[in-house]
Amino acid sequence: MSDRIEKSDAEWRSEMSPEQYRITRQKGTERAFTGAYWDNHARGTYLCACCGLPLFSSETKYESGSEWPSFWAPIAPDAVATVSDRSHFMQRTEALCPRCAAHLGHVFDDGPRPTGLRFCMNSASLRFEPAGDEEASK
Ligand code: FE
Repeated sequence: MSDRIEKSDAEWRSEMSPEQYRITRQKGTERAFTGAYWDNHARGTYLCACCGLPLFSSETKYESGSEWPSFWAPIAPDAVATVSDRSHFMQRTEALCPRCAAHLGHVFDDGPRPTGLRFCMNSASLRFEPAGDEEASK
């Protein structure tokens, strides 16, 4: 795992849109259907919007019907960190970037096989890198 990235709130705030800052650094949630990626079907990799760490592959993205981009597994076993979240009178599992602690979304146990997990993410927490671009830049 790469070294952790720690920045002040002012630094993070200066590097992204207010909406992105609200979601990734203040644990916000984007409204259903408003995100850029819930209906994205292209092949590629989803990176952390804050630090660029690869988090998810398009290969584990699926239609959850929740209108947020949903994945049944991270790109690698330790690619996404999780922590218990008891806010809003709910017991949930929060998903975080393991490198910069960006809030990504929540993990639920109603996902498809083989994991049975649903990583319900905010588009604003992700940056999509299409597979074609990846190869072209080599
Ligand atoms: Fe990150």
